[in-house]
Amino acid sequence: MSEPNSRPFTAASFNKYLSEGKLMASRCRSCGALYLPPRAICPSCYGEEMEWAELAGRGRLVAFTCIHVGPSFMNAEGYSRENPYCTGIVELEEGVKISARILGVDARNPSSIRIGSPGSVEFLVSGDSGARRTVVAFRIE
Ligand SMILES: [Zn+2]
Repeated sequence: MSEPNSRPFTAASFNKYLSEGKLMASRCRSCGALYLPPRAICPSCYGEEMEWAELAGRGRLVAFTCIHVGPSFMNAEGYSRENPYCTGIVELEEGVKISARILGVDARNPSSIRIGSPGSVEFLVSGDSGARRTVVAFRIE
């Protein structure tokens, strides 16, 4: 099988890493810029030499929204008007941002959620065995 670092810089590779419990960005070997979602060419210096870099998964909440009427796959997980969930944008210590489910907060009470709260990434497996997928979540401390 191919070396991990030789995986193409695509969403499919990113998702495969997620399923392995790894949050990976692509890093430009020329200028060191990190990209998430991964890019195959560096928009900063136009370098084409990218490598995979594992992120520590530590960061801070920079934006969020609480969802009362979500897509059907979230309804299937038990979320509803009465049981909303929270999604947001997290800025990781490495300087890249990700969107993630936000855990450890009260989605019924958005005013209790603080921008800038620190936390760490978790990996959530959703769906049944036929269509299992891993999504990024961020747990506020
Ligand atoms: Zn570059």
